[in-house]
Amino acid sequence: MTDNVVRHEGRVSPEARERASGQKGALVWLTGLSASGKSTIARQAEEILFNRGVWTYVLDGDNLRHGLNSDLGFGQADRVENVRRVGEAARLFADAGLVVFVALISPYRADRERVRTLFGAGRFMEVYVKCPLSACEERDPKGLYVRARAGEIAEFTGLDSPYEEPDAPELALDTMALDIGDCAAKIVGMLEERGIVRGS
Ligand code: ADP
Repeated sequence: MTDNVVRHEGRVSPEARERASGQKGALVWLTGLSASGKSTIARQAEEILFNRGVWTYVLDGDNLRHGLNSDLGFGQADRVENVRRVGEAARLFADAGLVVFVALISPYRADRERVRTLFGAGRFMEVYVKCPLSACEERDPKGLYVRARAGEIAEFTGLDSPYEEPDAPELALDTMALDIGDCAAKIVGMLEERGIVRGS
C-alpha cells in the first residue's frame, strides 16, 4: 500500500531540535492492570517535569478510545490495533522532541515489543506498574472491576482476559511499597540517568 509513497525528510534535524530544547524525545510506556496506577503516576511525573520546563505529554489509553481509537473494541485484534496506533502516535510526539508518557494496559508482550522497535536505542522505556489484582479490585477508582464481576463488561484484563507481565522492563514500580510520589520520582530519576532530561 505504501509502495509509491516516498518519505520526506525535514530540514530541522532531530539533533538540532534537541540542542535547542535541551531534552531528548522519548517514550515512557506504562503497562499494568486496570487501576494499577498508570495514569496517576504518569500525570504526576508529567507535572514534575513540566514544572522544570520539560515539554511532556501524556497519551492516556482511556482518553484515546474516545477519539483516535473510538472505532476499536476489546477483542484481541482490536487491542493489538489499539496498541499499534498509540505507539505510532507516541512516536510522532517523540519525534517532535517531547517526553511522552503512554498509560495503557497493553496486556500483550509482543505488542509492546513491536512499539519498542519503532524507537531508537534508549528512547523507549517500558515501565511496569505492578499491583496485585486484589489491590486493583479494591482501588477500583472507576468501578470497572465491580461491573466486570457483575458480568457487565466482558474480556476484562486480569479477570477473563490475560495480562502478560514484562520480562525485562526498564523500570518496575511496586505500587504496594511505593506511594504515587515515589513512583513518579523514580521515573524522573530514570530519565535523568538516561540523559533524556537534565538533572534538577
Ligand atoms: P490505571 O491508569 O492503571 O487504570 P489509575 O491511575 O486510573 O489506574 O488509578 C489508580 C488508583 O490507585 C488511583 O485512584 C490512585 O490514587 C490509587 N493508588 C493508590 N496507591 C497508588 C500508588 N502507589 N501508585 C499509583 N496509584 C495508586
